Amino acid sequence: MSTKHRYDAIVVGAGHNGMVCAYYLARARRRVLVVDAADAVGGAARPVGFGDLTVPFAAHLDYGFSRRVADDMELARHGLAWASNDIAGTAFGENGARLEWSLARDDTPSPLPARDAGRWPAFRQRMARFASVIEDIAGRVPPCLRGDGADARAWLAIAWRLRRLGAEDMREFLRIGAINIFDVLEETFDDRLLKGALATEAVLGHGLAPRSPNSVLTFLMRMASGGAAALPRGGMTALGEALRSACAARGVEFRLGTAVKRIVIENDRAAGVELDDGEIVSSSDVVSSADARTTGLDLIGAAHLDTGLVRRLCNVRGNGCTARVDLLLDDVGGLERDLLVRRLLYAGDMDTLERAFNDSKYGNVSSEPLVELVFPTVIDPAQKTGRHHLATALVQYVPRTADDAGERALDAARGVIGRMLPGLFERVVDTRTVTPADVENATGIHGGHWHHAEIALDQFFMLRPVPSLARYAMPVAGTWLCGAAMHPGGGISGLPGRNAAAQVIASGGRP
Ligand SMILES: Cc1cc2nc3c(=O)[nH]c(=O)nc-3n(C[C@H](O)[C@H](O)[C@H](O)COP(=O)(O)OP(=O)(O)OC[C@H]3O[C@@H](n4cnc5c(N)ncnc54)[C@H](O)[C@@H]3O)c2cc1C
Repeated sequence: MSTKHRYDAIVVGAGHNGMVCAYYLARARRRVLVVDAADAVGGAARPVGFGDLTVPFAAHLDYGFSRRVADDMELARHGLAWASNDIAGTAFGENGARLEWSLARDDTPSPLPARDAGRWPAFRQRMARFASVIEDIAGRVPPCLRGDGADARAWLAIAWRLRRLGAEDMREFLRIGAINIFDVLEETFDDRLLKGALATEAVLGHGLAPRSPNSVLTFLMRMASGGAAALPRGGMTALGEALRSACAARGVEFRLGTAVKRIVIENDRAAGVELDDGEIVSSSDVVSSADARTTGLDLIGAAHLDTGLVRRLCNVRGNGCTARVDLLLDDVGGLERDLLVRRLLYAGDMDTLERAFNDSKYGNVSSEPLVELVFPTVIDPAQKTGRHHLATALVQYVPRTADDAGERALDAARGVIGRMLPGLFERVVDTRTVTPADVENATGIHGGHWHHAEIALDQFFMLRPVPSLARYAMPVAGTWLCGAAMHPGGGISGLPGRNAAAQVIASGGRP
């Protein structure tokens, strides 16, 4: 590796994964520059103005940022604190039915029929055991199928982890992995609202419905990160600021408001990046947190890749279907106060979710979507920086290609939220919508998908996002991937960034 480069590594993207990757590289004494097209750090959770408030662009809750990464980066020392580390949920169904639950706690959801209440502890404990296997896998760099002794040992460790479940659990793990969350919940519980609420945990952020294959995997992934929904003090943007501060303390440099036009390749290996103003910044390695297709086809260029890989990158499934709707409120008085500190989900039942997904399969915004609603300024009064309150809703299923997707998502949300909290919309003074197409335009993430690429068994672990890229390396030497498109996927966990850094460091070279 040449010593004339200005940096050892340039990381494309100051989202969570880009910053986590940059931190670990800097901790291994690399000189690191992070470049982002946006003016602020945080990627899909970067700050944007809305009325008299600052809100995250898209991501509104922490569903499981890696504790290990948070400890390594000493994020508490860099200002990260929690307004709530487990916002309990209330699910709403038809005819005003309600259910209270949290996936992160042993408490039995309530109210439940006696038979379901009796079955809950065993179900939750078994799912938590299965989720611990997934958690173990999520923290690993996927081994090769035909690798060396280290790969063989990694496969053995995974097999042993599975075997430690015991024969009965192992059989059940393999059985339910092959079906879907609809069938698993249907054979376990009677209560329609409980099944709807649990199914939302499996499908939120995914282009899936309860009957879709892979929905058990996504449910376990949700539980693998603890199952809580948390809110940093100051909001999700505060997490980005803490990451930036930790990086800066390790000497990472940032260039914001500057897009990377292309990755410069010389003599068949990375030599740096060309910025949008034409400046070339040299480095030995370039690690991209943009999705794999964008990195491969737009930043590296198809001419440097074989045609088989180009075809596979074009076929990565990742059409976003989750939108965000923000409501600026002049007041929250008169609303049911206890509900405003909870995570409110309109799930209906599993059939409601299935029908909503069907609409999106045919390009339509569902009129009865899945909605997750929270009130950040009530849960965390420090976020109320002006006279207004904020309600944020994730609205699913909103296909990327739908006409007038933002207006239709807002209309659909209005109907559903009106049933959960009558009178809320009378307090709304302004709205803001972010559709999958907006996510694509603002972040450059092809498809605007929550996970940059759908999570499914054929795009998971050593197959994510496509088999030949699963170990975070692009085929051009010195080019790498560290974003949510990589194992173990998106949501703000920091794990793809951490795993990618381990690979860059293991590849040798500097210092
Ligand atoms: C509507 C919506 C709501 C969501 N809500 C949540 C939530 O509540 N909780 C949660 O955990 N997850 C949520 N997610 C998912 C989460 O936001 C993503 O999984 C996560 O942001 C991925 O992090 P990342 O660092 O890999 O990539 P990103 O956050 O997408 O960051 C990539 C960065 O790369 C930059 N970039 C790309 N190309 C270039 C280039 N050529 N030059 C320079 N910079 C470039 C972009 O500007 C961006 O800042 C949501 C997603 C969506 C779409």
